[in-house]
Amino acid sequence: MLYERSSRLFAEAEKVIPGGVNSPVRAFRAVGGTPIFVKEAKGAYLYDEDGNRLIDYINSWGPMILGHAYEPVVNAVIERAKKGTSFGMPTALETEIAELAVSMVPNIDKIRFVNSGTEACMSAIRLARGFTGRDKIIKFAGCYHGHSDSFLIQAGSGAVTFGTPNSPGVTKGTAQDTLLAQYNDLQNVTDLFNANKGEIAAIIIEPVAGNMGCIPPVDGFLEGLRQLCDAHGTLLIFDEVMTGFRLAKGGAQELFNIKADIVAFGKVIGGGLPVGAFAARNEIMNYLAPIGPVYQAGTLSGNPLAMAAGLEMLKTLNSDADIYTRLDAKTAYLETGIRQKLDETDLVYTINRTGSMISVHFDASPVTDFKSAAKGDNETFKKFFHGLLAEGIYIAPSAYETWFITDALTYDDLDETIAAIGRVSKTL
Ligand SMILES: *Cc1c(COP(=O)(O)O)cnc(C)c1O
Repeated sequence: MLYERSSRLFAEAEKVIPGGVNSPVRAFRAVGGTPIFVKEAKGAYLYDEDGNRLIDYINSWGPMILGHAYEPVVNAVIERAKKGTSFGMPTALETEIAELAVSMVPNIDKIRFVNSGTEACMSAIRLARGFTGRDKIIKFAGCYHGHSDSFLIQAGSGAVTFGTPNSPGVTKGTAQDTLLAQYNDLQNVTDLFNANKGEIAAIIIEPVAGNMGCIPPVDGFLEGLRQLCDAHGTLLIFDEVMTGFRLAKGGAQELFNIKADIVAFGKVIGGGLPVGAFAARNEIMNYLAPIGPVYQAGTLSGNPLAMAAGLEMLKTLNSDADIYTRLDAKTAYLETGIRQKLDETDLVYTINRTGSMISVHFDASPVTDFKSAAKGDNETFKKFFHGLLAEGIYIAPSAYETWFITDALTYDDLDETIAAIGRVSKTL
């Protein structure tokens, strides 16, 4: 494959955009080489500026769960755009998507829309602090909750890919209020509660971690967090920016049958437009301005184009009874295929999967937290990534990311991918 135009476009971009990208992981720094510039995408495929076709396993980092340029979403955006793209006034559309989201997700009465997952998590934390009157939060090493200050403490995703899990620019004061725990380690969390009695406003967690590769919660972990929160008057925040509307209609709350106090959304909920949201039961949501004291706002929040896209996406997911079974079956098929191919080599590996989130770690021991995720052989991953890219398969350019399976992938696409993985893994 040739990447001439991508290389040229990247060189031009680097002159006017820091690192040539508007979000760090896109720059390929973790794997080397030149980022691919996309021209267009349809269904399961990306078409780049050099005319290469790639089977896409990132899908805009999750949102395109039905594939790219899904027609009902595209049409809804076009129709809406003709009527004006922003008003800064309420529209009926906002209530429509709110009603639908509230009906799909368990245990929430009200939802507020924002413009990104970062904003959703940042606002969820502020609300939890306002509601409880406490300052401290617990987050888990390797979990990513967007780039707001409180969360850039041992953060996952791009932050860890570039070795800056703790970013300069975050004040000591802010960092002090973020307590760090190890994923899947209940004792660790219990100790933090005991050392900070009456001070912890919230635990925020990715109920299935997806920003250090895919790491499912071990049995009893989420239940244990729920019990600790109940015992200490602390709110449990599920960051479902990745898992929401992906693992089930009602996200991880539904899948694991565990109630969160506040839920943050992003990615799928916007159908590919910049949308985030946070939701909770009335008692908590009524703490928000204009009816409560906790301030939160946004000029473009509830933007009609974004709401039209999100609404169409949620409608499709809500009305397709088999979608999550289909996604799970396709991803399971891919998992089995990858295992068969890797077993034919001497490579050691661990594959983690929950529903349509899956990741391959080149290490033999179980990957259950950030430490074990970091043990993976990054050199092997780099070669694996570039080998697949040369075969026209696009996975995330970092070992710390999940692959996102879309409903647009056919079994032929999966077979093509598995065959390519077979060829590439023999060269590693
Ligand atoms: C992507 C992500 C975010 C941040 O969302 P943005 O829209 O990129 O700001 C937050 N939490 C999780 C779990 C995510 O995967």
